[in-house]
Amino acid sequence: MISRRTILKRLSTMPLLGGLVGSTAPLQSALASSAVAPRNLVKELGIRTFINAAGTYTAMTGSLMQEEVLETIQAASKEFMMLDDVQTKVGEKIAALVHAESAVVTAGCFSAMTLGLAGVLTGLDAKKAAQLPHLEGSGMKSEVIIQKGHNVGYSQALTNTGCTIVFVETPEEVEKAINEKTALMWFLHIQSDKGKIMHQDWVNLAKKHNIPTMIDIAADVPPVENLWRFHDMGFDLVCVSGGKAMRGPQSAGLLMGKKHLIDAARLSMPPRGSTIGRGMKVNKEEILGMYVAVEKFIKQDHQKEWQMWEDRTAHIAEAVKKVNGVTTETFRPELGNHTPTLRIRWEPAKVNLTVKALQENLRNGDPSIEIVGEQGGISLTTWMLKPGQEKIVASRLKEELAKAAV
Ligand SMILES: *Cc1c(COP(=O)(O)O)cnc(C)c1O
Repeated sequence: MISRRTILKRLSTMPLLGGLVGSTAPLQSALASSAVAPRNLVKELGIRTFINAAGTYTAMTGSLMQEEVLETIQAASKEFMMLDDVQTKVGEKIAALVHAESAVVTAGCFSAMTLGLAGVLTGLDAKKAAQLPHLEGSGMKSEVIIQKGHNVGYSQALTNTGCTIVFVETPEEVEKAINEKTALMWFLHIQSDKGKIMHQDWVNLAKKHNIPTMIDIAADVPPVENLWRFHDMGFDLVCVSGGKAMRGPQSAGLLMGKKHLIDAARLSMPPRGSTIGRGMKVNKEEILGMYVAVEKFIKQDHQKEWQMWEDRTAHIAEAVKKVNGVTTETFRPELGNHTPTLRIRWEPAKVNLTVKALQENLRNGDPSIEIVGEQGGISLTTWMLKPGQEKIVASRLKEELAKAAV
């Protein structure tokens, strides 16, 4: 029996066969289609895909990886390597790119925070790493100081180590809160305007008492400078997501900072077992992919990128404004998700549509579109769109709003 591969090979070397011998044409096309069509899991499993005009949301799978990241993952998957060797070499390269002493690829920003604090607690003592999160009687410190306004849920990453959180508001309260159990002073950049103490003052207060500092900048690149700004400012550890604007793997992130702390954090990371970080494994493909993502991100033309986002935003704004009663406003958030953001509002007397209905209609349309529902309107961003999708978003939005015109 001739294998299908052999038939295909023969057919491909005889391009005119189908045309010359009519009877083999159906066979040729059947074989060609079954061989060419890759398995479509999205279709097979009935998973909804959509145009992402919302942003880099974890629930929406973050961002689409850069092409070079995917190529790196493919290539890396074909060889064995020692996990620690990959981390060390990639870490050195990333550290040099971001003005840090050291860096390690973690399973996202959240795990970077847990592991970074673990390193602060254990130092280079592997026995202590095995004890986490049981701090009592261990001799390890057990408190993290956070500003009240920075408490938005991500601090769970810190309490996962066994530490408790001490909330403060003023510099005086910080001074009072510091004691022999204080392990870390943590800062959440995206909430900086909700706290009374700003970055440099936070670092200075900590330095005065010899307390390590950590900052969460998960969703705060761009601007690209944020990758080094906080090391330069004096933060000991900086944590960022890999799968948001940098378009690395969604389950990757970076812990960057002081070498002795990164070395200590790695005691709680795979391949070492019996640690709180054992389940936060990052494979070689993602470690290398993350490296390529950071490198590409730093080198890219950020001004050009920004201009593209603005052009797309303007295109959508122009379209929806044509509907009577619809107004738009474009703004750039100062903190987090720093990208042109379009807010769309409409007068209920002129457009009879609830936010929820608009959101549902876009979601259930073809193609499905995700935007952000807000109080009294919607907002959207264009940085996660593929080229040309802004035209679809514009026409669908306009269509739904016009349909509801009174
Ligand atoms: C997304 C986010 C995180 C979590 O980051 P992951 O990379 O998903 O682990 C933490 N903090 C803030 C402010 C975030 O926006």
